[in-house]
Amino acid sequence: MKVVIGSGKGGTGKTLLSTSLALTLEYVRYLDLDVEEPNAHIFIKPDIRERIPFSIPVPEIDFNRCTYCGECAKACEFGAIFVGSNTVNVFEKLCHGCASCKLACPENAISERPYVIGEISIGKRDKIEYIMGYLKLTEALSTPLIRHIKKEYGMVSGDIIMDAPPGTSCPFVQSISDTDFVILITEPTPFGLSDLEISVEIVRDMKLKAGIVINRADLGSKEVKEKISGLGLPVLLEIPFSREIAVGYSKGIPLVDVLPEYREKIKKLWERIREMV
Ligand code: SF4
Ligand code: SF4
Repeated sequence: MKVVIGSGKGGTGKTLLSTSLALTLEYVRYLDLDVEEPNAHIFIKPDIRERIPFSIPVPEIDFNRCTYCGECAKACEFGAIFVGSNTVNVFEKLCHGCASCKLACPENAISERPYVIGEISIGKRDKIEYIMGYLKLTEALSTPLIRHIKKEYGMVSGDIIMDAPPGTSCPFVQSISDTDFVILITEPTPFGLSDLEISVEIVRDMKLKAGIVINRADLGSKEVKEKISGLGLPVLLEIPFSREIAVGYSKGIPLVDVLPEYREKIKKLWERIREMV
């Protein structure tokens, strides 16, 4: 079963829940897809055994062949190539490595070279296989790295837990695509609700099964909680607003170690998801 934990808003408890899920279930593969700021390793504490650079293919121009016709720039949807009267500039940080420019070039003047945008770490803790994506500072395109991790490490049999990036843009959509279930974690505040509504809409558009977990559940107003319940997705679990959890989190202690009774609650949550899938 492939289950991804996402949230519209950052800081709502994605990693708090996903790491405790992994530590409770044990025989799982954990993919940290929050590649701009991966932090699940702080809680899972895997033994990292391998680090693999990740690159995308960016165009390289052969100026002996180039006629500055501009076809490559026209083909690029991302504004990653500029063609002047006697120059061609490639902006690697905008390039998606899609090869459209190469296909469009009538002079066969474009080849590809690897451009490193991040790294993949592979590790283990007991029965948990841990894979983490890390996007280099100054790089902006996380989607190719997320897509690659899911393709290379997310196609095995068994249970896979994925920690999605926050927000509701392309990296989130890429993370939740082709999964069996999406857990949307939120907090019962107007801001949390607003982002949750967008996430629910995306999940529905993509026809994915999903449920909600409310973190800091006793924080918000009754009205907001009623609106969350009214979104039409089951509320699978509520986690209280607790100083103990917050202090534990700040020290890298997982929820299930701070409040061991959550192991049972999380096992039930997983069984419920299995039934729904
Ligand atoms: S399409 Fe090819 S020939 Fe035309 S400007 Fe681009 S690299 Fe040069
Ligand atoms: S590989 Fe794709 S994104 Fe990159 S410059 Fe070429 S057309 Fe643009």
